[in-house]
Amino acid sequence: MMKRMAAFLALTGIVFLITSFKKHSPESKPVLRTIVIDAGHGGDFHGTRGLISKEEDVTLDIALKLGEAIKTEFPDIKVVYTRTTNANVGGASTLKEDLHNRAQIANQAKGDLFISIHCDATVKPPGGYYEKRVIGHKKKLEYVGRGKRKRKKMVNAPIYESYWVKNTRVGASVLIWKAEKSSDKTNAINDGGGGEFEDSTDNSAQEFDLGSPEAKIRAELYEQRYFKKSVQFGSMVMDEIAKAGRKTLGVYQRDKGIQVLQATGMPSVVIETGYLTNKEEEEYLNSDDGQNEVVRNIIDALKRYKQQLENGKTNASATDSNGNNK
Ligand SMILES: [Zn+2]
Repeated sequence: MMKRMAAFLALTGIVFLITSFKKHSPESKPVLRTIVIDAGHGGDFHGTRGLISKEEDVTLDIALKLGEAIKTEFPDIKVVYTRTTNANVGGASTLKEDLHNRAQIANQAKGDLFISIHCDATVKPPGGYYEKRVIGHKKKLEYVGRGKRKRKKMVNAPIYESYWVKNTRVGASVLIWKAEKSSDKTNAINDGGGGEFEDSTDNSAQEFDLGSPEAKIRAELYEQRYFKKSVQFGSMVMDEIAKAGRKTLGVYQRDKGIQVLQATGMPSVVIETGYLTNKEEEEYLNSDDGQNEVVRNIIDALKRYKQQLENGKTNASATDSNGNNK
């Protein structure tokens, strides 16, 4: 009798173990339930512009296409947009409110990943610009001195020539929130770098108070939970864009201009899809083919990211998948 009882208890124990193990298997708890897609700028906050387009419009086009592609490729993943029209987010009247609303939408949706779509720009005019250079000198009569001392003098005057400088900078990059301390594994990620947020004249850097206790807690959380995943996904996006034959500039850490990333309690990246100040890249980013390719690259990165999460690999190695071919 006791033997039977013991056998029964052992059996129920095993059954219990199996069912509780099942509870924690990937099937019952998806790793990516909700993805938040953020079309950069919009409404009163225009972002950069090229020869034929504005950043706020290009980012919205790509964001909406990305959302549709996610719904098709991953029917179980919920897509949440921060905006679907060209309007301030949540009826915001200031940039600060607008950015806070984006973070709030992401947090209320309990997103598992925040993807912010942007376009880059250099400080120089879109397309190109004229510069002057000296191509020689010529003798020229000039007056020197004043009043009675005024006299003529031959001088060597430079001859200038105007020439066209094409705005050639191209390439996609990923920006992630700069964690306070970075481990050895993440040291390979670029720190700083040029581009939109470096050159930006908007003061979104001041729109989040990083000194507040809440911000410090958020920063710590981001570092512990979300930093590696952000690097991991960002590196995969760079990989896929490079595979498509486009220039990639790498994954950059930033702590200015992208505070909205830190304010979202989830892995989060800004994808700079390319330069609107380069004529060809702007045309690419405005074309259906170009937009679809960028979306395809992000989807392929998402597939790999999801797979790795399901396999429990969350330690990103930035060195082998940085995609930095600058
Ligand atoms: Zn932007």
